[in-house]
Amino acid sequence: MSNHRHKAPYVVRPPTAVLTRGFDPSLSLGSARPAVFRSSTYVFSNPEAAERAFSNALGKTHPAEGESIDLIYSRLSHPNAEILEDQVVPLEPGATTAGVFNSGMAAISTVFLTFCQPGTNFLYTAPVYGGTHHLMTQILAPLGINGIRIPAGDTSALQKAMVSTSNLRMIYIETPANPTLRMSDIGAAATAAEQHPDRPLVVVDNTLMGPTFQHPLTLHADLAVYSATKFLSGFSDMLAGLVLGREPELLIRLRGTRAILGNILQPDECWMLDGRLPTVALRMNRQSKNAQRIAESLATHSAIKKLNYPSLFDDPEQIRIRDAQCRYPGAIFSFEVHGGKRSAFNFLRRLRIAKNAVSLGGVESLACHPASTTHSELSEEEQREDGITDSLVRISVGVEDWRDLLHDFRQALEGL
Ligand SMILES: *Cc1c(COP(=O)(O)O)cnc(C)c1O
Repeated sequence: MSNHRHKAPYVVRPPTAVLTRGFDPSLSLGSARPAVFRSSTYVFSNPEAAERAFSNALGKTHPAEGESIDLIYSRLSHPNAEILEDQVVPLEPGATTAGVFNSGMAAISTVFLTFCQPGTNFLYTAPVYGGTHHLMTQILAPLGINGIRIPAGDTSALQKAMVSTSNLRMIYIETPANPTLRMSDIGAAATAAEQHPDRPLVVVDNTLMGPTFQHPLTLHADLAVYSATKFLSGFSDMLAGLVLGREPELLIRLRGTRAILGNILQPDECWMLDGRLPTVALRMNRQSKNAQRIAESLATHSAIKKLNYPSLFDDPEQIRIRDAQCRYPGAIFSFEVHGGKRSAFNFLRRLRIAKNAVSLGGVESLACHPASTTHSELSEEEQREDGITDSLVRISVGVEDWRDLLHDFRQALEGL
């Protein structure tokens, strides 16, 4: 054995990296947290620097190693976006680059409009988020960008559809699916994509489990997209979206589209979201523990027909996918009550702690009725296929004391 030891540079772990990289206090007058730069435009050091900044922005040249490029105009990028994009990267294992958007839908729309052209196809797991479904059917389809629906969790249907689809640009996966928590196999989709002649991109909406419990890029997905409105920001007080990728080239293209659509996240929101990053794992761990205790206690309640939650899966294929790609069961569960829509509405009406609202991932618990709200745009047939019945209620668990929440849910279920 050689006594020559190769000393690899010490790499800090994500919770440390998120607090130490991407922000240089000397560029903010020494302030410990970033300043907010609200300026819409930036003064160039000299006309040559302006020319250089534009030629880089248009992709005609690339910055040399260590070269500092002047900022141009805030629709293209601004200091708070750059700080946030740098600080969020370690939270997504496998990511090298990030892009921030002014909502989850802005991020998702920009991904489709950048990588799918008229006359091309993409596959998607169903159900998807209501806004994403609207984008696919009302905006992309009329543009000739055709989505092919695959039931969540059906790996062989996905593989079959891939073999028979040409001009395939993307496989869009939302896992676990909202509100039924059905999971789709990210690794299997990535393998199939690598073997397809068109080499479609694998894009995962990681809003429900990420960035703490599920890491799509380590399973060879190309892009992870987020509604940062949910767990990442965590307080139900702002909208934001994120895309993270393994290949910087994909993010350069996305930022190019973003500059024209004008949907970059604004400086104040970047600053807010940046301050929330160090606590996202703390919040999600607490929310998941709370949800697990509550879901497991409620699963056998006499007013509940069926409760959906990852630690309570009984389908062996779903258990296999869960164990392969999720570290913890997460903060979202849903259940069907006996007595249909009337009972579901009465349950929501009687809640005292959890509030009847759409959205999820905040520190406060929320409950909603997907069939009449978030998923009301689906056809009856789609709702039936996706398991979104009239008696289904979705819960997003916050950081309250779980015993108080369980008490609240039990009193609201009583006598339904
Ligand atoms: C909320 C949500 C979106 C949309 O995000 P916005 O920030 O509301 O635009 C997309 N996907 C999932 C899974 C969501 O929960």
